[in-house]
Amino acid sequence: MNITHDVIIVGSGAAGLYAAYWSSTKADVAVLSKLFPTRSHTGAAQGGIGAALANEEEDKPLWHWFDTIKGGDYLGDQDAQKVLCYDAPGTIYELEHMGVPFSRTPEGRIAQRPFGGHTRNFGERAVRRACYAADRTGHVILHTLYEQCVKQNVHFYSEFQVLDLIMSDDQTKCLGVVAYDMLSGDIITVNAKVVVFATGGSCKNFATTSNCQANTGDAFGIILRNGLPLEDMEFVQFHPTGLAGLGILITEGARGEGGFLTNAEGERFMERYAPTVKDLAPRDMIAQCIYKEVLEGRGINRTGRICNEDYVYINLMHLGKEELQKKLPEISDFATTYLGIKPWEEPVPIMPTAHYIMGGIPTDVDGRVKRNAQGDIIEGLYAAGECACVSVHGANRLGTNSLLDLVVFGRRVGLHVAKNVDAIPYGQIRGNPAAKVAGEIETLKKSTGKERHGAIHEDMANVMMEKASVQRTEQSLTECKQALMELRERFQNVGIDDKGTVFNSDLLETMEVGYMLDFSLVQVEAALARRESRGAHLRLDGPIDADGKQQQMPRDDANWLKHTYSWLDNADKADASVRQDYGEVYLLQDHPEGGWEPELVERFKPKERKY
Ligand SMILES: Cc1cc2nc3c(=O)[nH]c(=O)nc-3n(C[C@H](O)[C@H](O)[C@H](O)COP(=O)(O)OP(=O)(O)OC[C@H]3O[C@@H](n4cnc5c(N)ncnc54)[C@H](O)[C@@H]3O)c2cc1C
Repeated sequence: MNITHDVIIVGSGAAGLYAAYWSSTKADVAVLSKLFPTRSHTGAAQGGIGAALANEEEDKPLWHWFDTIKGGDYLGDQDAQKVLCYDAPGTIYELEHMGVPFSRTPEGRIAQRPFGGHTRNFGERAVRRACYAADRTGHVILHTLYEQCVKQNVHFYSEFQVLDLIMSDDQTKCLGVVAYDMLSGDIITVNAKVVVFATGGSCKNFATTSNCQANTGDAFGIILRNGLPLEDMEFVQFHPTGLAGLGILITEGARGEGGFLTNAEGERFMERYAPTVKDLAPRDMIAQCIYKEVLEGRGINRTGRICNEDYVYINLMHLGKEELQKKLPEISDFATTYLGIKPWEEPVPIMPTAHYIMGGIPTDVDGRVKRNAQGDIIEGLYAAGECACVSVHGANRLGTNSLLDLVVFGRRVGLHVAKNVDAIPYGQIRGNPAAKVAGEIETLKKSTGKERHGAIHEDMANVMMEKASVQRTEQSLTECKQALMELRERFQNVGIDDKGTVFNSDLLETMEVGYMLDFSLVQVEAALARRESRGAHLRLDGPIDADGKQQQMPRDDANWLKHTYSWLDNADKADASVRQDYGEVYLLQDHPEGGWEPELVERFKPKERKY
């Protein structure tokens, strides 16, 4: 079967739906999603969406911009970060006018709460910047955008999974996608002028994660197999407060409302590491501090090991039951349901959980996908949301800046497509791209291999968690790479039990594990290459000090203030290999042609990050 639409959006989270909303003002738009739209992970976002709203006295986009640069440990592109922070207030008001029911102040304004790394006046003190709707912020944004898209007659193909991209022979133009209809098992060729990837996150390749089942990073695998690069994939965010042993998220909004962390000694340890902002330091720092506390024997069970039996506490009792149920109802429910702990009576055990991928498909500020580190654009291919790397988050994303990234850049993609779609021709699809996907599916169905996707997934997620998560060394990463190569070998021998056509999750999950094996290898190789610590990438194998103790690698701006671009050669083989190139980080100081004010240039120069 073949279908044609001017614009195909892959993914129905907030990024995809915002892009669909605006592009549908000028074009025939379809959204293709492996889930029903409102089940996308955006609906799980709890804490808030960052924006310096109108009150200039209290907050300004300029300060938000500075915090985003510093929070990302100077690896973000400063021009793109400006777009994020200055587009923010207008986009929030647009969402409000569409009907997003934000929580309100007594005066009727949009309510805002503090969040990690967001400060007033360049780090003076924490500021209220996160707009929220109780702890269901993503949920209300997702539902509102879906309603608006329905109103605009956007066509939805729900429970269709994209399995390949159709590119011109010279890789300069995108022609469409190949998708799989889960209900019928049909393989569909989709011809489009414009394809937008908005496929969300990828943290299901780690054993402890806050991510939903669908976050398997399919687009990353598809991009790599089409000979295109991913950017900054070594930067994976570990959110400090996942429910211990489970990874289910306790939003940072809990610390925004006054929650704090303690160790076995009852000490508020973040006061030692970040004296100014304490428990509202950025996530990379807090996750690394929690690991340090546990490894030095101050975890609650004093094991001295990172294991399922040890953790630290988040304390919320002082907020009281009424306040917790009003402002943080979901997380109160999670702690009670999953751990049997009432957060107004007892502290809640937490440990870091794999949460967010800072890297992804390289794009410019209008979401157009780049095909190399020099920034050459692919005609007709866009990416937005968590799967894209614009790059605004650099080496560490601040809380609330992801929902903001989705809506700011999803919206910009939609507007850019609306403006340009008439001038983009339909490409001529040659041959039969669906046949390749059909062949892969046939091979899996016919395979007599004894391996199963569940076991390979579990082994991959465990090794990634153990050897390539919050702390990394050359040795741990090399062992991880070795394990991944063995898993790729095992994957050659994978088979499926369900040979049917109707909702064959056995088949699709096997293919998802294949994608995860591809981009996990890229993550590990990029982490091996980057011989410094920056943001979420902490390398412990640094120089030996006078006492013979190994230090962590310092941040190395002279050699590593650059983006990694990674390709996967021989992606369809067990012995695939990663090839890298490096791209410039846009710093104001390097761009006098931008006419940036000297005071700003000085302010934004990379410095040691202290809070
Ligand atoms: C528990 C949790 C809480 C969070 N809280 C916050 C918060 O408070 N503030 C904040 O700023 N950020 C938060 N985040 C991060 C933020 O929610 C995510 O980064 C964001 O929702 C991603 O949105 P998206 O539009 O890019 O994709 P998603 O909402 O993840 O949607 C991805 C879409 O892609 C589709 N898809 C994927 N692969 C395919 C395929 N192969 N074929 C077809 N469709 C496909 C899926 O069906 C889905 O519709 C949170 C994340 C989590 C996990």
